Formats: sequence, C-alpha cells, structure tokens
Amino acid sequence: SGRWARAMSIVKEFEEKCGTPEGKLKQVADAMTVEMHAGLASEGGSKLKMLISYVDNLPTGDEEGVFYALDLGGTNFRVLRVQLGGREGGIVHQEFAEASIPPALMCGTSDALFDYIAEKLASFVAEEEQMFQQPPGRQRELGFTFSFPVMQTSINSGTLIRWTKGFSIEDAVTQDVVAELTKALKRKGVEMRVAALVNDTIGTLAGGRYTNKDVAVAVILGTGTNAAYVERAQAIPKWHGPLPKSGEMVINMEWGNFRSSHIPLTEYDHALDVESLNPGEQIFEKITSGMYLGEILRRVLLKMAEEAFFFGDEVPPKLKIPFILRTPEMSSMHHDTSSDLKVVGNKLKEILEISSTSLKTRRVVVELCNIVATRGARLAAAGILGILKKMGRDTLREGEKTVIAMDGGLYEHYTEYSTCLENTLRELLGGETTSSILVEHSNDGSGIGAALLAASHSLYL
Ligand code: ADP
Ligand code: MG
Repeated sequence: SGRWARAMSIVKEFEEKCGTPEGKLKQVADAMTVEMHAGLASEGGSKLKMLISYVDNLPTGDEEGVFYALDLGGTNFRVLRVQLGGREGGIVHQEFAEASIPPALMCGTSDALFDYIAEKLASFVAEEEQMFQQPPGRQRELGFTFSFPVMQTSINSGTLIRWTKGFSIEDAVTQDVVAELTKALKRKGVEMRVAALVNDTIGTLAGGRYTNKDVAVAVILGTGTNAAYVERAQAIPKWHGPLPKSGEMVINMEWGNFRSSHIPLTEYDHALDVESLNPGEQIFEKITSGMYLGEILRRVLLKMAEEAFFFGDEVPPKLKIPFILRTPEMSSMHHDTSSDLKVVGNKLKEILEISSTSLKTRRVVVELCNIVATRGARLAAAGILGILKKMGRDTLREGEKTVIAMDGGLYEHYTEYSTCLENTLRELLGGETTSSILVEHSNDGSGIGAALLAASHSLYL
C-alpha cells in the first residue's frame, strides 16, 4: 500500500544518509589525525581538546599496597578496593561496591553530588577488613576516575571544563573536582587522600598496560565515548612543562567532541543535537555511543509513525517520549534470532505499548537497529584508525604489536556493534597490518588502572 511504500522510502533515505563506505571512513580517519595535531599544537586549537593527563608513566607491575578507586562517569558509579602485590604478586585482592546516580543529582549542585559519593565511599571504607588497613601513619589513597572533560593542573587536580552525557551541575563547572571531592570526604569524615585524577580512558589504558605491555590506546564505548593514547612528549607543542623522563605523555583526546564534514549526519541527528543539554557539542559521541543510539532509532520510528502510519492510524503516544527507547533494548531487538522476532514484538509492546506488530514490521525495526549501530561502529573504527595514523602504527612494523584496550557497556554487551567495529578496523587496515593491531576487551580495567595510578603517585614511595 501507499503507507508501506512511504515508510520504506523513509528507511531507504535514512540508510543512504547513514552510509559509511570505506572511502568516507578514511576521510574521517584523516580528519581525526589532523584534529589531533591541531589539538596538541595549541590550547583551543581544535574541537579535540587533546588534554594532557600528567600521566607520563604507565604501570610497571611494581605497584604495591592497598589502594582505592572511585569511578564516576555516567549512570553508575563504583568504589573499589585493590591490593597490589608488587612484582610477580599482581592483583592480590579486589572488591567493589556499585550504586546508581539518582537523576536529580545529575542536575543539582556540586555539594549534593559529591556528598552522595562521599557517603557511599564512607560506608565502603567502614566495611574495610583489618587485613586491608593502612600501616600506621599512612593515609588511604584513592585514584579518582572522573569521566568528563577536565583541564588537569597536576596528576591530582583539575578543573571541570563542561558536563556531558546528561549531567548539568552549573556550580561545578570550572571548579577543581579533586578539591570538591576532598571537601565532601572531610564533611563525611572519610580519611582519604586523592592521589590521582584520571578519566576512564586513562584508567583503562593504565589497567590494560599492567596486564599487556603492548597496550598503547584505550577506547571507551559506554554511555558516552572517548579515547586516550600514549604520545611522544616532544610531539606536544602546547606542553611547556619539563620533558618527562619517559619521553611520553598520555593524552586524553575527548574524542566525543570530534566532528567533521565527512561524518554522515541525518535530520534525526540534527534534531537530537538541538534538543540536547549540550547542543553543538559531542557530535561524534551523539552518533556512536550508548546514550544516543536508541534515541536515534526512536526518532526514525516516530517519523515513520507520523508520516507513514507505520504503526497504524494513531501515532503511539509513548513513541513521542525522548529517550524512552534505550540502547540496551535496541540491542536486544537487534540480536533477536527467533523466527518470528518475538523479542522485537515484546519490546515494542512493553516499551512503546504497540501491540500486535506484523513480522514485516518487526523486520524493518531490526533493519533500522542495524543501520544506526553500523554507522556508529564503523565511525568508531575510523576514529581508531585516525589514532593509529597519528602514532605511525597504521602500517606494518616488524615485531611491533599495538593493543587497543576497549571497555564500556556498549562495547561489552552490544555484540553486533563490537563485531562490526572490529571487522571495519580490519577492513580499513588491510591484510598485513591487521596482524599487528589487536583489540582487547579490558574488563573494568579503568577501576584497577586508577588504583594503579594512585599507587604510582603515592605520597609514600
Ligand atoms: P558508563 O559509560 O555510564 O560509565 P558503562 O560503561 O557501564 O557505564 O556503559 C553503560 C552504557 O552502556 C549504558 O548507558 C548503555 O548505553 C550501554 N549498554 C549497557 N548495556 C547494554 C546492552 N546490553 N546493549 C547495548 N548497550 C548497552
Ligand atoms: Mg564508565
């Protein structure tokens, strides 16, 4: 019928606009490399902040003692206690507690957020077993993973540049987040020193390096997305501090804010951006990461409902609610292998209150999931190629391996996405080089990494 044809033409147009042929991906990769150079050349020289992390040494394996980590960067936060056994000892013990951030605190005040975190940390510390207590005269030390753009001023201080991923706490912007946390710890009576401030990419890089010396890049695909890598200190013109002994500096790219005219954007992406808490910002993040993929899908379905009556005469009211369709739900629809696409049918019913959909309709929904996820995964792969190019590791070098440590809920759970990303990276690198580039899932390397960096920046070394 006319309706179906109209719906299919919306799908077809969307698919065309989302296209990521190899040539386009290579242009995206080149643009990423160019922006990396610009961001390293001068402060504000690029959309890519290319932030200096003050991490000039990654873990060696010699780290020893009991350290804490706190991971704040999206929907959940975690506190960790890690016992490091020094050379050959490895990670002797680790335990963690997890809590979600109440949505009200994501848009409240800095004190309210940090008090909440300090309270959770206080109860975690209160349960500390005797064997994990610090030696006399020694304060507990913490690696703080704070995954928002921060202008570091030292390894354990830095000011918040802006919020992302749905957070909006005005009075915290430009504040030193370590000072804010330290004040809250004091208010809640927690004896603890913040030894290192990092973000999840730096933590993942550090945690990855601890177990594999070839790890040189870290990429997070979770609620948001970001990447970090090891740069030569001499290749950072904007760095005026002393050259580190190692000759290296870890760079937090903040690649979520990347954008380029080569990135395929659709009317749905523009509308999502305009209506977001941070219009004009984090464009790369808005088409690749977990917070947004389901929302893009919802917008396409809404248009099909409104203009082609895709779900019948009425537009399903729930379909009009922003962010109602979350990426984990999109992922389970995309992975539905049942012959009648039962999961898709159930999700449409449960979430959007659309009853009795035909198999034909369900197939189209899966196709849309595939279009949205494929574009995101292929662009993320192009971003990685851009980093490898900047590092001079996109071509085969005898005996050298480069490992990319990956983490984040999207990468971990959305198999279609992560498989597509890895296949695309192979496609882009070509036969020979592929064998020297490895992608590795670093399961919560970020928390361990922050604890490792607290250890290597301990007051008591
Ligand atoms: P964060 O990025 O908030 O620190 P995670 O790395 O755990 O936390 O990522 C959580 C995000 O991962 C969620 O917001 C969601 O977008 C995505 N995610 C979680 N589970 C799934 C899933 N099963 N399929 C697809 N995406 C998922
Ligand atoms: Mg995280």
